[in-house]
Amino acid sequence: MILAHLPSGYLLGKGLARARPAAAWVLPATMLGAVLPDFDLFWFYLIDDRAFHHHRYWVHIPAFWAAVAAITLPLVAFLTPRALIAVLGFFAGLMLHLLLDTFAGDILLAWPWSDRFFHLITVPAAQSHWLLNFILHPVFLLELAIIAAALWTFVQARTKAQKA
Ligand SMILES: [Zn+2]
Repeated sequence: MILAHLPSGYLLGKGLARARPAAAWVLPATMLGAVLPDFDLFWFYLIDDRAFHHHRYWVHIPAFWAAVAAITLPLVAFLTPRALIAVLGFFAGLMLHLLLDTFAGDILLAWPWSDRFFHLITVPAAQSHWLLNFILHPVFLLELAIIAAALWTFVQARTKAQKA
């Protein structure tokens, strides 16, 4: 995914916030988790000069986040249970990012047991630029659908808030 991470985090965060309306930090925490892995692009372009696929960085490895969540969630549940839903939203947003990246991008799903990338759909290199390959492939319709759903949900929420 290229553009749908923030909108997908918004949709997931709205769903979690609906389940727990009093948890104010759920939506921003979920949205942060949904975009955080792609912050590695700064390192990819500015430090490593594109030497490695940025999906090889630890922020794009599901097992890394599963380990962090396995340590963090019990601590939060014990120390600050009121923050648990926001922290859960953060990790859910992260996993949603990695799931969406798995559609057409490569993810190290089996790391540390395998260094092999996995993806669901192969986007052929039919265009001169990688970005055109994705935008002109049917999988981009999924991305557009997520963006449209998020926009629809946002407008509905604003309209409802203005009427209240
Ligand atoms: Zn990503």
